Amino acid sequence: MGMFNWVKLKIKCPVCGEKISGFQTKDGDLTCSEVDYFEINNFYSNCEKCGHWIEFNRKPATGILKDFDVSISDKFCGEPMIPIGGVVKIEVVDDKN
Ligand SMILES: [Zn+2]
Repeated sequence: MGMFNWVKLKIKCPVCGEKISGFQTKDGDLTCSEVDYFEINNFYSNCEKCGHWIEFNRKPATGILKDFDVSISDKFCGEPMIPIGGVVKIEVVDDKN
């Protein structure tokens, strides 16, 4: 019956800058509940403004350093971690603003 979970993430569209929420995943137990993106391997949404499909896939663990995404944050446990040097820059939207 097409079950999925919602993913707690809101970003700006890498194409047009529109806020995108409503990410969904089919990973894990599918109960239409909210999950954190770091607990899953794949999630996706589409931009209501420009229509682009945005899908995240965790890289497979191969055990070699060049396959790691490098990210920089200003605190030891700072979040969100923004990957740099990737194909697109992901800008997370902070609802507190
Ligand atoms: Zn867009």
